[in-house]
Amino acid sequence: MKNKIHDVIIIGGGISGSYLAFKLKDKFQDILIIEKSKVLGGRLCTKPVGSGLADYGCQYFSPKTDRLASLVNMLKKKSIMKKIDMNSKKDVFISPYGMNKIPQYLSLGIPAITNSFVDRIIRRDDNWDVQVGSLFLHAKRVIATIPIKQVAALLENSGLSTFKLPRSNYNEFFSVTFTSNKSDKVNIVENSKSLPWICNNKLKGVHNDKNVYTVNFSSELSANYQKLDTKNREESMRKVLHINGFDKIENFSLHFWKYGFSLNQNNISHFYDKDIHLGICGDSFSIGQVDGAIISSDKVYHEILSNI
Ligand SMILES: Cc1cc2nc3c(=O)[nH]c(=O)nc-3n(C[C@H](O)[C@H](O)[C@H](O)COP(=O)(O)OP(=O)(O)OC[C@H]3O[C@@H](n4cnc5c(N)ncnc54)[C@H](O)[C@@H]3O)c2cc1C
Repeated sequence: MKNKIHDVIIIGGGISGSYLAFKLKDKFQDILIIEKSKVLGGRLCTKPVGSGLADYGCQYFSPKTDRLASLVNMLKKKSIMKKIDMNSKKDVFISPYGMNKIPQYLSLGIPAITNSFVDRIIRRDDNWDVQVGSLFLHAKRVIATIPIKQVAALLENSGLSTFKLPRSNYNEFFSVTFTSNKSDKVNIVENSKSLPWICNNKLKGVHNDKNVYTVNFSSELSANYQKLDTKNREESMRKVLHINGFDKIENFSLHFWKYGFSLNQNNISHFYDKDIHLGICGDSFSIGQVDGAIISSDKVYHEILSNI
């Protein structure tokens, strides 16, 4: 085990990493995903709230590209995604058991180590050493599927900071989840200036017996909340929620997004260095969000196959 050399190590188990693993699994025997969180999914994340579930990251897929549309079709056939009516012109798809079921399905059967942060990657002879704390793993190819600022930090830490990478401006904000008896809530999604996203997960189509809400606070309010201690922050958030009509708020919890999402992006499609077998993909590439994540993963997949 000590000197085992994996065919591919994928850093990050979000939609980019799990989709790449899904594509590669028929071509390579030995793929490993390394994920810093306790579970796979990245920003496709769902948590229990009371007796229900809430998506607190990515809310839905609305494919702008054929590549994502074809993935959605496959997931629809497996009953992992379904179309919902959001009263918008675009097609909208959610996962009835939570958006995190998507990366979990895609990564089925692929070994993954979680709770493991990749600190450094080191090129040694013709392979890579991948450092996770005091543990060193080895691979022929390494693919980073993490937001570009985290890629830049990893490369710098590894003494590999000379690549041309895309630029991406992610917005930072708080998402909160809770149960409440807001009686006048009839729409799946609403918004106000302070709360650009108010979503009733039950109405959205997540299998819940009660109303479970996901609410995003504006970036401006979120910046102010960051300056407050935990108690005052929660009190202030609850007040704003109350003003927006939420009563009897229970099972309240929050998450701060440092890399939420970036809008209107059009970056290079992907990165792959065939001499050292280092790839980078994720939603910092291409048109961003889930479309960008899937397109860039697919491009890296083809680069890997062309450069075996
Ligand atoms: C609140 C919110 C709402 C959104 N809504 C939508 C939407 O409706 N539609 C849409 O298309 N997009 C939406 N997005 C954006 C979408 O979620 C992302 O574009 C997509 O999930 C990015 O996937 P990814 O795999 O590229 O990155 P991530 O999901 O961030 O995956 C990267 C993974 O790498 C891990 N990681 C990071 N550094 C390391 C390291 N050094 N070692 C090991 N692991 C590491 C992280 O823990 C993470 O799991 C939303 C995002 C947020 C936050």
